[in-house]
Amino acid sequence: MVKNKKSHYHADMLSVEDAREKILSQFNQLEEVNLKIENSLGCIISKDIISKFSVPPWNNSAMDGYALIYQDVMEATEENIIFLKVIEEIAAGEMPKKKISRGFASRIMTGAPIPEGADAVIPFEDTDELTSDSSELIGIKVFAEEFENIRKKGEDISKGETIITRGTEITPAVVGVIASMGFDTVNVFRRPKIGILSTGNELLEPGQDLEDGKIYNSNSHTISSLTKIYGADPEIQSHSRDTVEDLEKKLNNFEHVDMIVTSAGVSKGDYDVVKDVLNKNGDMNFWSVNMRPAKPLAFGKININGRKIPLLGLPGNPVSSMIAFEKFGRYAIDKMMGKQIVHRPIIKAILQEDIHNHDGRRLYARVIVEKSKSESQIIATPLKNQSSGVLTSMFLSNGLAICPSGTDILKNGQEIDVEMFGWNEEISKIINED
Ligand code: AMP
Ligand code: MG
Repeated sequence: MVKNKKSHYHADMLSVEDAREKILSQFNQLEEVNLKIENSLGCIISKDIISKFSVPPWNNSAMDGYALIYQDVMEATEENIIFLKVIEEIAAGEMPKKKISRGFASRIMTGAPIPEGADAVIPFEDTDELTSDSSELIGIKVFAEEFENIRKKGEDISKGETIITRGTEITPAVVGVIASMGFDTVNVFRRPKIGILSTGNELLEPGQDLEDGKIYNSNSHTISSLTKIYGADPEIQSHSRDTVEDLEKKLNNFEHVDMIVTSAGVSKGDYDVVKDVLNKNGDMNFWSVNMRPAKPLAFGKININGRKIPLLGLPGNPVSSMIAFEKFGRYAIDKMMGKQIVHRPIIKAILQEDIHNHDGRRLYARVIVEKSKSESQIIATPLKNQSSGVLTSMFLSNGLAICPSGTDILKNGQEIDVEMFGWNEEISKIINED
């Protein structure tokens, strides 16, 4: 028998969506900056990019071979080799000096500009180059279509074209296209700086000797890593003890950031120094969000040396803090960076065990999504231990099964929604046939 604790349901709980909306209303897209292209991956373009010239800037060869006039070799076959006089060798990076007229050809390398007069390139393999002694004559063994093996001027980008528009996210291909137009910098919306501070007397920093009663601060590192994945610049302070002085001192180091993310000390009922300090120095809300894990959440603005800085207070449990950051913090980063709000992909999967939802909150259960043995289905198996203290479950799983608010049970065999994590490649592994 599973006890139902629905009576604990609080009418004053905020939905995940309402909490997110309240949070997002406090953020704006940050100002534009000009970044070196090598530092721009993941940023959003703030100004249209117009090409100053065509790419490629001239017709060039797609093969190592011979540039010639196609009409000269219309009859060429293995049996009827047609000989042309070689007048020049054109390497990539050089301009041709000689014009091709009937009966002539130039030896040309891939990427080299096509000489005037030539209208096709025959690759080495289709000539007698390897078997002939003559360096002056080249025997052509096949015919060519007009413009065969010629890359046309401007076939990639034409001069004056708006090739990348404001709002485009910089991916590896986008940064390559920007580079191909000769730009070494790009205008983007600035990456947010995120100040990260874990609180708790029980914490030690990794690298310190373990002491009785203490645990290592993992939250600062999971959250900092998540902010990096989303394109922000995190700054970690070593954790604060639960004292007013220490907390205020550490927070004061974050005068320059765009958002502060703290962990622990925000549960509703409890007395906590963290809440005291946040209340005293800012305009904070302490919410109960209708979700499990990660019900307690703090959000507001805190005064640091005259600046009002948004502060997101995550719960202390390592899993809760990651999931709360995913649900709230990362959207704030996206908005500051000028990104469209895109939710994590949700896929359908067949549940392999019952999931009980004891208190009617929206439950996010860590599951392993994979193909069934027969490969005919996508299945989701919940991890045995769903404790919000078990951080290993976050890398052993690849998604969160969603049990809607008010639903007591998801049954073995039922089709469910699973939100896939954004920081691994599990989705493609599942969807790809190979
Ligand atoms: P609290 O929110 O302070 O009640 O903390 C809830 C749980 O999370 C406790 O077991 C804490 O020890 C743990 N915890 C708090 N902060 C961290 C942290 N930075 N890293 C790992 N665990 C933490
Ligand atoms: Mg604590």
